Amino acid sequence: MAREDYEMIIGLEVHCELSTKTKIFCSCPTEFGGEPNTHCCPICMALPGTLPVLNEKVVEYAVKAGLATNCSIAKNSKNDRKNYFYPDLPKAYQISQYDLPLCYDGYVTIDTPKGEKKIRLERIHIEEDAGKLNHDEYGRGSFVDLNRAGVPLIEVVSRPDLRSAEEVESYMRKLKSIFEYIEVSDCKMQEGSLRADVNVSVRKKGTEKLGTRTEMKNMNSFRSIVRAVEYEANRQIDLIEEGGTVTQETLRWDDVSGKTFPMRDKEDAQDYRYFPDPDLAPIRLSDEYIENLRNNLPELPESRRKRYLEDYKLSEKAANFTVQSKYYSNLFEDAIKVCDNPKSVSNMIMSDIARILNEKEEEPDEIPFTGEDLGELVKLIDDGKISSAIAKKVLEEMFENPKKPSKIVEEKGWIQISDEGEIKKIVLEILENNPQSIADYKAGKDRALGYLVGQAMKATKGKANPQLLNKLFLEELNK
Ligand code: ZN
Ligand code: MN
Repeated sequence: MAREDYEMIIGLEVHCELSTKTKIFCSCPTEFGGEPNTHCCPICMALPGTLPVLNEKVVEYAVKAGLATNCSIAKNSKNDRKNYFYPDLPKAYQISQYDLPLCYDGYVTIDTPKGEKKIRLERIHIEEDAGKLNHDEYGRGSFVDLNRAGVPLIEVVSRPDLRSAEEVESYMRKLKSIFEYIEVSDCKMQEGSLRADVNVSVRKKGTEKLGTRTEMKNMNSFRSIVRAVEYEANRQIDLIEEGGTVTQETLRWDDVSGKTFPMRDKEDAQDYRYFPDPDLAPIRLSDEYIENLRNNLPELPESRRKRYLEDYKLSEKAANFTVQSKYYSNLFEDAIKVCDNPKSVSNMIMSDIARILNEKEEEPDEIPFTGEDLGELVKLIDDGKISSAIAKKVLEEMFENPKKPSKIVEEKGWIQISDEGEIKKIVLEILENNPQSIADYKAGKDRALGYLVGQAMKATKGKANPQLLNKLFLEELNK
């Protein structure tokens, strides 16, 4: 059978670090980085005799995440111990949630070529992050850094509803966008704030039974996730086609070779010997508490999208593009407070800003200027102070060397020439040097006008006012 006769079945466990100020069971800071072992205390170092106290904010952030992803919220829930030994886990158990997660039965929608698709969420639970091991490059050993130990996480477990690497990427991007909008996480993948365990299996199309799955842990870039899913699904298909069987195991994705390698056999749930943590009280939430959070949830992308279509008359494409990231959307909203030209602003985000980010391999949260700056730039065009060709150069400059657009224009001498006398001089000069174009125009070839305007733009390095150029050329040509 060919590869096309198989389908991939993918489910994700996404870990997302919450952006509470303090850790989940102590008052140490959650801040990323820092000198090793400076953000810790006896509780997160697991010294004997210490007791955890649950950070209320963690529950609040997790419930918000659940509400924003259409989950039911458990009024009764609890913390459990998940027992395993690893050097970065000083208690030798992780405090997590087992059978009573805080949020359950939700969904998010993603866009696919066949239209909108619902990806079901089995659950969202809270747990603590582990520390980090730094392996010494000279082979002197491995060092434990507990700064991250006890940083709060939510784990979002999807149903196996994803069917391609593209769907996996859309789903991850959707979760990232929602959590950014409701401000429960900074979702910085490069810092490990958002990472996914990816479960992949394959089956012949038209069959029901799920194949054996493999798991790739802690994937933290969209690009690697897409490559890894494709590689792993094809590896499984080839194996089955050759008469082999897939073993249930945890794999390590190697980005350099573009291959997966076996890491260890997959533990089953009972191997963790879960039991309720006797040091922590059950979590009980009132209806009032949940409804209050529901009513105070920040505006979500779907509602912003509707507003952009109705109030600002953006195209479907522009509205979808703008709301895909909170950073684009906020940039847009701040910019139109300054310039009152929503269409130009969204165009500039969708074409120029997205292109520059793409070239720099950066994400929207790395844009180095404000929405006000962008609004000012669009206003400079609208007021006839610069041409749109110059605006593109100003924008490049705003990325390289962030300053107010008006300042950049002034310093670079990019102000548009809108003086009629000055432009007329240029027009006459261009006409004198291009008698053939005049003849062409008189012979009915309208394209000649475009050529002449182009020549004038070239001569003024894009600074001539295009409307004035057009007007004056027409006046001269029709004399
Ligand atoms: Zn601590
Ligand atoms: Mn987990």
